[in-house]
This record gives sequence, C-alpha cells and structure tokens, in this order.
Amino acid sequence: MSTLPLIPVAEPDLGPLEEQYVLEAMRSGWVSSIGPFIDRLEKEFAAFCGVPHCVALSNGTVALHIALLARGIGPGDEVIVPDLTFVATAAAVVHAGATPVLVDVDPTSFALDVELTARAITPKTKAIIPVHLYGRPAPMTELRDAVAGRDIFLLEDAAEAHGARLGGKRVGSLGDAAAFSFYGNKLITTGEGGCITTADEQLAKRIRFLKDHAMSPDRRYWHPEVGFNYRMTNLQAALGCAQLQRFEDMRARKAEILDQYREALAGTGIELNATAPGRESVCWLVTALLAGSWTEARLAALMSALRREYAVDVRPFFIPMHRMPPYQGLRHVHGATSVAQDLALRGLCLPSSNKLTNGDVARVVAGLKSAL
Ligand SMILES: *Cc1c(COP(=O)(O)O)cnc(C)c1O
Repeated sequence: MSTLPLIPVAEPDLGPLEEQYVLEAMRSGWVSSIGPFIDRLEKEFAAFCGVPHCVALSNGTVALHIALLARGIGPGDEVIVPDLTFVATAAAVVHAGATPVLVDVDPTSFALDVELTARAITPKTKAIIPVHLYGRPAPMTELRDAVAGRDIFLLEDAAEAHGARLGGKRVGSLGDAAAFSFYGNKLITTGEGGCITTADEQLAKRIRFLKDHAMSPDRRYWHPEVGFNYRMTNLQAALGCAQLQRFEDMRARKAEILDQYREALAGTGIELNATAPGRESVCWLVTALLAGSWTEARLAALMSALRREYAVDVRPFFIPMHRMPPYQGLRHVHGATSVAQDLALRGLCLPSSNKLTNGDVARVVAGLKSAL
C-alpha cells in the first residue's frame, strides 16, 4: 500500500487570472446568465474556432441536444454516433427522440470509421456526430464526402479537442456545427459549461431562442414553443475567458507532459497518442494502448495495482456503447471484430494534469513498467 499522495488523472489548471475574472464577475453583480463575460467568451471562442457564431450553454450534453433539436431532428430520425465515445453523445440523441446508430471506430484515429459510416447511412439518417476522441480530430473531409448530396447534419462532438486542427482549420469549424464541453476535466473549463459553434446564422439564432425558454425576441413572456433553460452564467464565462486567454500555455504544457511519457515509455511496446500528417491533435488525456491480449479482469487488476502500490490513478477507456443496457438493442455497424471493444480492452488514460511534475511522470512510468 503506497502512502504517497494520489496522482490524479486530471485536474483543472486554475490560476490568478481565473481568480481575478471570477471575482470581477461576482463584484459586478452579473452572476447569472447575462453579463459581459458571456458576450466576451462567445466572441472570443468563435474567433478561436474560426467561425462567426458561438452560443454559450450550460454543458456539453445539452449543447449536443439543443443542436439536434434546432436542426429539427427527432422521432423517426437516425443519428450516427461512434460506438466508442463518452455516453453523452448517444444520450443526447435519445433525449432528442431520435435513434442512435452505433458505428465502429478507426483503430488509429479512434474516430468514426468512414467506410462503415457510409455503409450505415439510410434514408432515415439525419445527422452524424463525429467525436474528436481524446483530442484526435475525426476525418471530417472524408465524412463530408460520404454525406455529399444528402441532407445530413454533420455535428462535431469537440468536447475533448479544443484547439485541435485538421488541415490547418480548428475543430469547431469543420462540420455544420460543433458542440464543446467546458466540464472541469476538459481542456478549457468553466466548471460546468459548454457551447455550440457554427457558421450557420439561422441555426445559432434558433439555439439562442430555444436555450432561453423559447421566449419571443419581440415580445417578453411570449413563448411560441416549449423551450429550455440551457444558459451559462456570467460567473462561469469569467472562468472560461481566463482559460481561453491561457489556452496556448496550457496546451503546450500538456504536449510537454506527453513528450515526457513518450521518452520514458519508448521501447515498451505501449502506443501513446497517435499523430498523423495534417492532423494536429491536442492532448486531452495521455492514452496508452497496451500491447498483447487483454481481458477486462486483467486490465482491472493492473489498474488497481497501480493505485494501491504507486498511488497512481489511471482510467480505462470508455466502454463501447453497444454493451450498455440502454444502447444494447441499437443497430451496430462494425467489421469482422469490434475495434471499439479491442481499444477498450487495451486502453488506459494516464495522469495528464498540467500540474504533474517530472517526478510524478517518473512514478507513473515506473509503476506501469513494474505492474506490467
Ligand atoms: C465531456 C463530454 C461530453 C459532455 O459534456 P458535459 O459538459 O459533461 O455535459 C460529450 N461528449 C464527449 C465526447 C465528452 O467527452
């Protein structure tokens, strides 16, 4: 049993600038969902992504939900989602009343397999939600080609990939719209929070309307439809503005940590975050794919040994959607074997917080090597 302090997988990187902005928001009295930091975050995050519109929302899950609703997607419609993702991607589709179709992922990009996605499209397909998993951009150009000539909404789930680029363009600008999360462990946090970025002015307008109780912009307390309260607060946005201002430093620090892991794990057969030409991934979490054949029990034993003997917190990959009760019966498109399942059996997320010291990284690596 290790008596060392636990090294967590993720921790928010908050400093004096965050403190200053949040205090400023509080002292201004604008603590709710109107205020200068909301406007500023929307404007600056849109510019960061290279699109004209950003709508701040209360979290990433509702961002996905409201984007689907704003596009008129609902009962009877099919929405393609990757089998390997955080559950919110599929849950948002269910919340919209539509049916998720689970498509297997590519073993390198961890994103939707393009060929299988093309095969999964039916006349009922109304949207595809490619996920930029663990900071790796999904193949948006190929997916765009796969839906050419069809009225299919391409909604990026960019919750784990703020700042990643594909062909020089940032995620958030690669689909018809993109959903981001600003949860505490994401690359930019507002505590809880999220947003939609888009170049589609009508869509942005409709999301603004729906997120604020569907109140008529021309007549106060007149609600022509049933809306939602999916608003972000000015306090949260203040935190986000500071984080966005510090983004480049935070991104660079994470890249440095990834490099340290790369060096220390070289020659072990462990595959870390993949890179590919033209795809500028960001490191959200350091992902380690173990070599050889693994079972759930063996992976669980490895994780608990790391925690017990080295006080190192590691996490498994997401469990493939097709295995969980609410999603088991859905159409599931895959090849000879499930890539999502293979990745989930061999994948670990290593401690990736910006506050890790060189000693921390060394402890994680020593623990991993000896536990293996
Ligand atoms: C975090 C996350 C979400 C949901 O974001 P919340 O802000 O937690 O609601 C959606 N999709 C993916 C891939 C995520 O990682």
